[in-house]
Amino acid sequence: MKIDVIGDIHGCYEELQQLLVKLGYALTSDGWTHPDQRQLVFLGDLTDRGPDSLSVIRLVYQLVIEKGLAKYTPGNHCNKLYRYFLGNPVKIQHGLETTVREYVTLNDRERQKIKQQFITLYETADLYLELPQVNAIIAHAGIKQSLIGKKTKETKSFVLYGDTTGEVDENGRPIRKDWAQHYKGNRWIVYGHTPVLAPRIVNQTINIDTGCVFGNTLTAFRLPEEETVSVPSKQPYEADRFRSFD
Ligand code: MN
Repeated sequence: MKIDVIGDIHGCYEELQQLLVKLGYALTSDGWTHPDQRQLVFLGDLTDRGPDSLSVIRLVYQLVIEKGLAKYTPGNHCNKLYRYFLGNPVKIQHGLETTVREYVTLNDRERQKIKQQFITLYETADLYLELPQVNAIIAHAGIKQSLIGKKTKETKSFVLYGDTTGEVDENGRPIRKDWAQHYKGNRWIVYGHTPVLAPRIVNQTINIDTGCVFGNTLTAFRLPEEETVSVPSKQPYEADRFRSFD
C-alpha cells in the first residue's frame, strides 16, 4: 500500500487538483486515479474559508464513498458543518459562513444532495485512521500516545481540536500545547489543523497543514517514501495565521 495524505484543504479546490496532478493522479472516468494504485487519504477540514468548499466535498465523497479509492477522517470544521447540516444550532463563523454561502445558493435538490453526501461521508468516517500497512496513524489534529486505541470522548476532542489548554491568547485563539514533543512511538502520526509555513517533523510526527487557505501551500505526505509534495496557494497571504516554533 502506498498513500498520499492531503493536508487541510479548506475549500481550495484548484490547489487540490493541482496537487493531485503533481502527485501523478489523473482524472479518468473512475475519478482521480493513480497509475501505481496509490491511495489518497484526507485528514479533514475539507471546507470553510476557501473559495470552493462544495466541490471539495463532492470530490472526496466520490473517491471515498462511491469509488472506495480514498480514505477520510474528519477535522473540527467537518464536525461543525456536520452539526449545521443536522440542523443543530451552530455559530456560522470562523469560515463556516463561506461554505453556508455556497450552500444556500443551490437549488433544493442540489442542497439535499450535497447535505446527504457530507452526512454520509462524516458518519462513515473513523475518528482517526490506523494504517498498519504504512505504519501510520492519521488524525486531524494529531493524537497523543496514551489515546491511541481509545475511542473515547477525550480522544474525539483531541483529534478534532488538538492539545488545547482551554485558554486563549490575546487574539482569542486557543493556546496549544505541543504533544508531538512527547511522542515516543515508531508509527508515523500524520496530522494538520495548526497552520505552519513548512511541514513540521517532530519525532515520528508530521504536521502537513501548510495553510493553503492562508496563502502558503497545500501539502501531501507520501508513505512509505516519507516525502512531502506541495503546490503554491492562490489565496491572499495572511502571515499572522501561522504558528512558529522556537
Ligand atoms: Mn484546519
